[in-house]
Amino acid sequence: MPHASPLSPPSRQRASALFRRALRLRCPQCGGEPIFVSWSRLVPNCPVCGLGLERGEDGYWLGAYFFNLTAMETVFTIWFVGFLWWTWPAPPWELFQASTLVLMLVVPIAFFPYSKTLFLAFDLWVRPASEEDFVVPHEEARNVRRTRSR
Ligand SMILES: [Zn+2]
Repeated sequence: MPHASPLSPPSRQRASALFRRALRLRCPQCGGEPIFVSWSRLVPNCPVCGLGLERGEDGYWLGAYFFNLTAMETVFTIWFVGFLWWTWPAPPWELFQASTLVLMLVVPIAFFPYSKTLFLAFDLWVRPASEEDFVVPHEEARNVRRTRSR
């Protein structure tokens, strides 16, 4: 029987490897680290395989923000349903309001680096890395301004 599903076993294994590495905050392509210089900033290229982590597109991280938003909404839904389940029939709404506010401030920050690596893993799964993904961009050289001497 012909079988061309995007979720055929080899693809599923590949996706699982990509996402496992992403959840460990490593390069989804090779598992190399470190790829973060701080909690929110990635290095431009993987120090092990050289993969360009922004894959040469402006606004690439909009996808990561979308992942972060989705994570926040998922957490909120689980929290909301769980809170009502636990406290019904008399939910303490003031407590719900205060704790939801704290949760909605903490989750996006805590999930931020994961949103980047998970989006990168997703992108690498859908659009596997090609040779040009491993070329080091020369943005820094281009952005250097010449200072005038007086
Ligand atoms: Zn790598």
